Amino acid sequence: SLTRYHNLQTRIKGTIKKFDDVNKKKAGEIIRKAKEASREILSATDVYQILSAYNIPVADWRMADTTGDTVKAAEEIGFPVVIKADSESIVHKSDVGGVAINIKDSAAVISVAEKMIKKFDTKNLRFFVQKFLPGGRELIIGAKAEKGLGHLVMFGLGGIFVEVFKDVVFNIAPLSDTEASEMLGSIKAAPLIKGVRGEKGVCQNCVIEIIQRISQLVTDLPEIQEMDLNPIIAYEDKVFVVDARIKI
Ligand code: ADP
Ligand code: MG
Repeated sequence: SLTRYHNLQTRIKGTIKKFDDVNKKKAGEIIRKAKEASREILSATDVYQILSAYNIPVADWRMADTTGDTVKAAEEIGFPVVIKADSESIVHKSDVGGVAINIKDSAAVISVAEKMIKKFDTKNLRFFVQKFLPGGRELIIGAKAEKGLGHLVMFGLGGIFVEVFKDVVFNIAPLSDTEASEMLGSIKAAPLIKGVRGEKGVCQNCVIEIIQRISQLVTDLPEIQEMDLNPIIAYEDKVFVVDARIKI
């Protein structure tokens, strides 16, 4: 116990970085409007705008209402793209066949959109079109409000791995740079992030920065009850959020 106490007392605590390139007012406004409309789960458009307001890198995206607009959006973004069914009633998109990846041309966009229209048969179905990002490591960063504690921030392996291995760690916001960096090192799969047996690791500083920015976001806007970025697709030199959810 004494050794543990000593280690805790003398550890490097790091500094809580305050990013001043964020637009707290804009993010707050989006949340206020969603509250007014009694929405608990923010729309994808709202979520991605909040992430951009906090300078969190996201894969290029467009929201489209019609098949024609979906084709236009895909052409603007550049093939290959991913198409995701967007509607208030769809939560876990891939579970219900609402995610189509690696769409290579306009004809394929039309066929995917038409299939989704048939499958989901809902009036307010829209198409979230996004750049396809192959071959990265999938990570998750999340945050959750806890009574009397502020927010817990979570980090781990993302995608389906988070459900199978539950290899995630938590810390309390606001997080220092050292604490964010310790989170990366404390999951079991840390070697996969750092690089193992000739396989390259991912941009750890990029991930550490996103953890700190999320920590600042939930500290600035405590109305956020829950959020997760899952997955974040991470490469050796950059990372992008490709799916995100915010509950207020
Ligand atoms: P949901 O979590 O609602 O099922 P996601 O948007 O997370 O839907 O997509 C499910 C999976 O599809 C992701 O875990 C990832 O493996 C893959 N995926 C989604 N978007 C992209 C993308 N832009 N590039 C590459 N793979 C993607
Ligand atoms: Mg997801």
